[in-house]
Amino acid sequence: MASAFGHLAVAYALGQTIRPEWRSARFWWLTVACCLLPDADVIGLMLGIPYEHVLGHRGLTHSLFFAVIVGVLMPRLAIPDVALGSRAYGAFAVFFACVTMSHPIMDAMTDGGLGIAFFAPFDSHRYFFPWRPITVSPIGITPFFSKWGLGVLWTELLWIGVPVCVWLAGICVQRRVSK
Ligand SMILES: [Zn+2]
Repeated sequence: MASAFGHLAVAYALGQTIRPEWRSARFWWLTVACCLLPDADVIGLMLGIPYEHVLGHRGLTHSLFFAVIVGVLMPRLAIPDVALGSRAYGAFAVFFACVTMSHPIMDAMTDGGLGIAFFAPFDSHRYFFPWRPITVSPIGITPFFSKWGLGVLWTELLWIGVPVCVWLAGICVQRRVSK
């Protein structure tokens, strides 16, 4: 996986595309939950499910299918007033699916572990992108405080932090221009 910092930075950047009046504390908590949720599959590792299993790490919870399910369910939790089937509901469903999907997309750019089962449960093949500049993050907190962890932070600063800053600057410029 990329580190939690990388996933959170991208979720924050995506959240800035939503109009300020919709960005409640509840919205942010659920945005954070969506970007980290795919790694709930590490529970499976602890329960003895093999990494390469479709329910193993980077399996079903890292798939497009899972992101769509999360996207469809989240708007009701995030904004209780939004009407089921409305345009706003659809827009939030796309948003939460994108935030959830940002996680496996970043994982597929890491240089370690097994690939991502993007198309599970229909195809359990694991995929990486051809370009993988991000150092894979260790699983667990203790191993993160090491030379390995520092390497992860450095590559994420470069390959996630810089694009996120450019993205946020673009949003700022766009808001100023449209005022
Ligand atoms: Zn992951």
